[in-house]
Amino acid sequence: MAGETILIVEDEPAMRRGLKDNFEQAGYRVALAADGEAGLRAAVESRPDLVVLDIMLPKVNGYEICRLIRGQGLTMPIVMLTAKGEESDIVLGLNLGADDYLTKPFSVRELLARCEAHLRRAREPAGKRYVFGAFELDVASRRLLREGEAVELTPKEYALLELLVRRAGRALTRDEILRQVWGYNVFVTGRSVDRCVNTLRKKIEDDPARPRWVVTLREVGYRFDGGNWTGVNQAKG
Ligand code: CA
Repeated sequence: MAGETILIVEDEPAMRRGLKDNFEQAGYRVALAADGEAGLRAAVESRPDLVVLDIMLPKVNGYEICRLIRGQGLTMPIVMLTAKGEESDIVLGLNLGADDYLTKPFSVRELLARCEAHLRRAREPAGKRYVFGAFELDVASRRLLREGEAVELTPKEYALLELLVRRAGRALTRDEILRQVWGYNVFVTGRSVDRCVNTLRKKIEDDPARPRWVVTLREVGYRFDGGNWTGVNQAKG
């Protein structure tokens, strides 16, 4: 939506300028910070609607900024930018409260699309029913319907699907999924998450080997990919 403010924290001048131009052309207001200290100050003091956050920054790095922003109780979406080959490091950023990430070099169009999706979800109140493809997830009755017919899910599969759908478009690490679905007190590993994803895929994916909905993020975790995701949060009652 035009007029929302994007804070871009990026130390490379050409990248900073390029992102500023693109976001402004898309109708956003843009605030810039060239190092971590300025970025953190801008995030906390001017409360942007979304933060695009490079990880490797002078003074204060992106992880620390992420941790401190969330420590202030601020919930705006944070999209991290990471260098190629550092995908495994992004797990730390996601566990510290980032919502999403892109690996450099990335397509600016994709960054804009992801940011728009995060802003849209941040604006909408959480609905009770989520629609994706032929499926409808009814949170109130904890049921998944496919063209009106109930799909049998185990309690863990249901909990996993609800988490993924509620946070559609956001990269979730295995650790976070474990915390949210299994809780702290059970001795389970990331393998348990992978197994549960696999059984869930068999129930919701046309081709589980090439998933349309639950996408694997290599070395990171999973993301529910709605694509054209206008159905989400359509509260039907
Ligand atoms: Ca950098």
